[in-house]
Amino acid sequence: MQRDLFEISDAELLALDVDQFCTDIAANREGPEPCEGDNDHTSSLSTESCCTAPGTAEATCSGHEQSSDQPSGSAKESDPLSEGSGTKRRKRDRRTPLEQFGRKHLRVTDLSRQAWCEQQVVYGMELPHIQQLREEVPVVKAGSSIHLARGERVRELPVFGELEGIFLVGVIDELCYNSKGELELRELKTRGQQTFPGAAQRKSHHLQVIVYKLLFEAMIKGQLNKDTITHHLHLRTEQTFGSEVMVQAQKVGFTINTFGDLLDLMLLNLTYSEIPTIDIMKIEYCYQADASVIGTEVVCFEEEKVKRELKYYCSFWKGQREALGVDIEEAWKCRSCDFADICEWRKRKAEEATQKNRANQSK
Ligand code: SF4
Repeated sequence: MQRDLFEISDAELLALDVDQFCTDIAANREGPEPCEGDNDHTSSLSTESCCTAPGTAEATCSGHEQSSDQPSGSAKESDPLSEGSGTKRRKRDRRTPLEQFGRKHLRVTDLSRQAWCEQQVVYGMELPHIQQLREEVPVVKAGSSIHLARGERVRELPVFGELEGIFLVGVIDELCYNSKGELELRELKTRGQQTFPGAAQRKSHHLQVIVYKLLFEAMIKGQLNKDTITHHLHLRTEQTFGSEVMVQAQKVGFTINTFGDLLDLMLLNLTYSEIPTIDIMKIEYCYQADASVIGTEVVCFEEEKVKRELKYYCSFWKGQREALGVDIEEAWKCRSCDFADICEWRKRKAEEATQKNRANQSK
């Protein structure tokens, strides 16, 4: 007899072929799934920094989803040399994961997705062709077009810098002053369903905007320096620009000869721009079918907690521990994962859970 999907244990769920879930789950799932509701395939996180904006959709951090004190995959069970995919390979390879993937930097979204499932981020880099399939789906394109249709603000603002020894780059959706004169960071998320995302997914989004704030503020406070940029990105500052670039620069009122000159100028401009720090961070969720607003969430900034989380997530990229997948309590995330069929972590957790169940039954 076929059972309802939610009668199936997490252990069984981990062991089942994910393909068979795809249509059934869509109607029944409680938690947000990156491939369905949202445009950016993001994830859960350990930042409990959410408040509900006045007059906006209800959003609380507590409730039906797990406590977020531990990052996804959680350090509580991390045996750095025995878990995570690619373990054997990395034991032989002394390079850090960042080096192995040929990356000089991470995107902020890599980091926020890590909070959903670190293992998934790793598979995404190892097997990019699988995720590329998803990026072709219409929901992503709809998301992009909404971005372009919005009103006048500083939009698509690049931010970059070093956090926990990793160079991060990202793009702030919108930056503007509100009616009280406060500087507001706004992140737009489009969803395929006309519902607010669950806590796990919102928390991932929180991490994303908090990291944007940290990067932006380091830039305007003069904490980002040229050496940091050139060291991480392996840039040659002495490289001379072509004459066209120099002429163009003179037209807009400054003189530069080398890439280093340009970096100096940019950093100086940022430091003396008198741009204030960000007062408020908001995430606006829109329904992709008609661009209507589902709700807006205000993200609170808890500096110490965020720093702890960043340290933890970055330790993987620095080769200080192995990648972790989701805990068994979060096995629902695997239902929509592109890599479920090949995921070693998922298989191992399913086996562990089955053995545990057998042991309990035999008592
Ligand atoms: Fe993570 Fe589960 Fe996907 Fe494995 S199957 S990468 S544990 S979400």
